[in-house]
Amino acid sequence: MTVPETSSRALRAGQDTPLLEVRGLRKVYRGDQRSVEAIRDLTFDVAGGELVCLVGPSGCGKTTLLRCVSGLLPATAGEVVLEGRPVTSPPPGMAVVFQEYGRSLFPWLTVWRNVELPLKEKKVPRAERHRLVADALAAVGLTEARDAHPWQLSGGMQQRVAIARAVAYEPRMLLMDEPFAAVDAQTRADLEDLVRALWRRLGVTVLFVTHDIDESVYLGQRVLVLSNSPTVVLSEVAVDLPDERDQLGTRSLPRFTELRAQVYARVQQAKSGARPETRSAGVTASPSELAE
Ligand code: ADP
Ligand code: MG
Repeated sequence: MTVPETSSRALRAGQDTPLLEVRGLRKVYRGDQRSVEAIRDLTFDVAGGELVCLVGPSGCGKTTLLRCVSGLLPATAGEVVLEGRPVTSPPPGMAVVFQEYGRSLFPWLTVWRNVELPLKEKKVPRAERHRLVADALAAVGLTEARDAHPWQLSGGMQQRVAIARAVAYEPRMLLMDEPFAAVDAQTRADLEDLVRALWRRLGVTVLFVTHDIDESVYLGQRVLVLSNSPTVVLSEVAVDLPDERDQLGTRSLPRFTELRAQVYARVQQAKSGARPETRSAGVTASPSELAE
């Protein structure tokens, strides 16, 4: 088993500060009846320009983590630091693509206006806005659909609108929360390739959450495996596949199969309640801590 901090440091060799630092992040949801410790102690870095995938069992706190990273939810303890500054509210250089794209698009706005809206809020001048929206729609293959409304589009097309909106915003960091969970297999493969193509072209830093092991290996440069709830980083797998990837070729490489097997085994460990052998071991919250 790898020690997360050590191996991510090795991968970052030559780079100074990471773009994103998650330090001892803990999140407890407090309710009237009971509290849920969703995240216990998460520590990891993402370097500028990296594409990191996070996998972990359902309910282990992946969405909670992304909400904390995007400043939508305050941490109970620990911190999220983006470009050296603690995140306490949604940071300007960050865009998020959620799983429920249907709910994230405004049904009364056209595709064009949906993509344009955050740019208006960012006060991007009109001509520049036009260029960014046109480029983003072209990148996701939706130029023809610019005047359609979201409800006139298939699920895969709606998700491409959500991706175009995130891309047009020119984020330095893109967070994606199981963005393809609800689309069919062929569309999913196309969207995976789209994300890799955009990542390579724009140099954006991507943190991609998925519960699909194959997807995490196909997309990522690095896969972080989360334990089951309350969550810690269980282990980390460096994806040493060539940067040029394609659905048939890459997935049939022996190395792809090996990496998939590695991640699979670790997710199985996570499901059966494994905790890291090194850090965080033995750190358990007492009931009084949970009720704090
Ligand atoms: P994942 O995205 O990995 O499936 P979540 O982050 O959605 O996991 O949830 C992690 C844990 O936190 C689960 O036990 C879930 O029930 C709980 N949880 C999520 N959101 C809330 C909330 N708003 N209030 C209370 N508990 C929550
Ligand atoms: Mg989730």
